[in-house]
Amino acid sequence: MNVPVKLQEPLKQNLLGMTLQDLEAFFTSTGEKAFRASQVMKWMHQLLAAEFDEMTNISKTLRETLRQKACIDVPEIVFDQTSTDGTRKWVMQLEGGNKIETVYIPESTRGTLCISSQVGCALDCSFCSTARQGFSRNLTAAEIVAQVWMASRLLAKNTQDNHRITNVVLMGMGEPLLNYENVLKAITIFMEDNAYGLSKRRVTLSTSGVLPKLDLLGQQSDVALAVSLHAVTDEIRDSLVPVNKKYPLNELMASCRQYIKNQSAKSHITFEYVMLNGVNDSREDAIKLIKLIKGIPAKINLIPFNPFPDSGYECSPMTVIKEFKEILMKAGLIATIRKTRGEDIDAACGQLVGKVEDKSRREKKFETLRYGMAK
Ligand code: SAH
Repeated sequence: MNVPVKLQEPLKQNLLGMTLQDLEAFFTSTGEKAFRASQVMKWMHQLLAAEFDEMTNISKTLRETLRQKACIDVPEIVFDQTSTDGTRKWVMQLEGGNKIETVYIPESTRGTLCISSQVGCALDCSFCSTARQGFSRNLTAAEIVAQVWMASRLLAKNTQDNHRITNVVLMGMGEPLLNYENVLKAITIFMEDNAYGLSKRRVTLSTSGVLPKLDLLGQQSDVALAVSLHAVTDEIRDSLVPVNKKYPLNELMASCRQYIKNQSAKSHITFEYVMLNGVNDSREDAIKLIKLIKGIPAKINLIPFNPFPDSGYECSPMTVIKEFKEILMKAGLIATIRKTRGEDIDAACGQLVGKVEDKSRREKKFETLRYGMAK
């Protein structure tokens, strides 16, 4: 019997996640000139074209080839809400049903987009609600870039011209260094002149400290670094940020010192420190913090804890946070208290809760899957 053969549509390559180098390779492999790469890159990321047919300085034949071999694919927006303070949150639905969140935070002189790098997170920090969802998968480079692309398009529609993205921070869902390759591609695209053209000081990667990857990042990129420190002793950090059991404080600090050595003289590391009542907010903690980061050009960002149901933690009182800050400032450090934004739409740090199907089966395969790599 003759069974009809169903011809599979050839897999199209999503150009959104390609660096200039990737695009050049793509075009030369299709027999085209490499300079098409920068043209198409500008169309996608600067003119925010969604279709190849919009690319009017490209011949019809090439546009047709592109339609057959490639795509500009973005996740569907299933939620778009603006907070009373102007913070805007989007939930995007990925192929396969997972959801991720992206948050835009407008300020008078800048607009910061906080993007996700993974679906869920495997690090299990005890004070973060994303941890409760478990981990599903890494985002592709295209899915990471799509968040900036999509937000740029939607903000461009807004008539107020101060609504634009000047800074991108990888502080949404996920641990960026556990999705190293894709994150590196995405930040390269954010900083690429033919794409978003953001300077290295305006793209910040926040990590809990996955050290071998942090060391590699220092060699391969000069993206601004934020480190989720949150505690000054291994005992307390182990309980808050469990990856500390694998990469303890002395090793983390050594990597930070090395990272900054590779950077330009003006760079600094931002240390994030969540303020948890009675856990890590004493005067002694502040004094130990000063010693711990001695010699590292640093800014300390004190983050008032954002509560969520059954977290088991409380935010330190504002008087304690201010006193903590004063101690740091008196020692000559730059310390700021992060303003909590978008609380009414659950867009604040640690409140991003997409629907995630936990694939990590954390109970059973704790060590290997959590950190995804051997030390
Ligand atoms: N995985 C990365 C980036 C994600 S979170 C990292 O660990 O750095 C961005 C920041 O928000 C981190 O410093 C994180 O520790 C902090 N955070 C998480 N939950 C929070 C909460 N409930 N309240 C305040 N800050 C929180």
